[in-house]
Amino acid sequence: MIEFQRVSKVYSGGKSALQNISFTLLSGEMAFLTGHSGAGKSTLMRLICGLEKANDGKVLLNGIDVSSLRRQDMPFLRRTIGMIFQDHQLLMDHTVYDNVAIPLIILGKPAEEIKRRVSASLDKVGLLNKMKFYPIQLSGGEQQRVGIARAIVNRPTVLLADEPTGNLDDKLSKDILKLFEEFNQAGVTVLMATHNMGLIRRKHHRILHLNQGFLEVKN
Ligand code: ADP
Ligand code: ADP
Repeated sequence: MIEFQRVSKVYSGGKSALQNISFTLLSGEMAFLTGHSGAGKSTLMRLICGLEKANDGKVLLNGIDVSSLRRQDMPFLRRTIGMIFQDHQLLMDHTVYDNVAIPLIILGKPAEEIKRRVSASLDKVGLLNKMKFYPIQLSGGEQQRVGIARAIVNRPTVLLADEPTGNLDDKLSKDILKLFEEFNQAGVTVLMATHNMGLIRRKHHRILHLNQGFLEVKN
């Protein structure tokens, strides 16, 4: 569960990015985070995974106050969360397989388990047949799916996706959204930031709308 209690974030230059934000996303829920560029979407996500700290209020993840975590406890938090970015952030000099394996290698998992989990993850995103390719050999949509495979390889309970379809056309965007819905149906909590209203129009998930740092919950 993700809970914001009267959270405010002011950047060091004095820019107020989030103001008095409160909401709860239940475990297993899926929601969209909308708002214009600069509305505070990335900031909100970065607060959840501990990449930024709130100036005021509390950010709770499964009941744990993220901002009170010590540096050495951060890896625990990161393991619960799968993070997906617009520009996938793949290592271009590593194969698809190695890119997805990285989180498990960092955790020191046994080789056999790494092999099994990476294969399972790539299978989920439909890229098992491309595991020996390098990212440059893949289309934009495929690269984004590698990023998703890397995000789920740790079996996180929460997926945060920051404009994951920002660089993709309509068809590919729908495919990516469908993938997130499948994870959500398997019990994963999903929060996806987007300003593509057309993409989410007919979906029935909750919408958290940010307007210049203020939250307007639409449903
Ligand atoms: P969004 O993801 O909705 O585009 P952001 O969370 O990136 O919005 O940004 C919210 C506001 O905070 C913007 O005005 C942006 O310029 C500002 N901002 C974001 N990151 C920083 C930073 N590291 N330092 C200063 N200001 C920032
Ligand atoms: P195993 O438990 O042996 O890893 P699973 O079939 O349960 O095998 O999962 C295979 C892979 O699929 C996982 O490593 C993970 O990448 C992904 N996965 C499974 N369940 C979930 C889930 N609920 N959310 C996200 N990814 C999942």
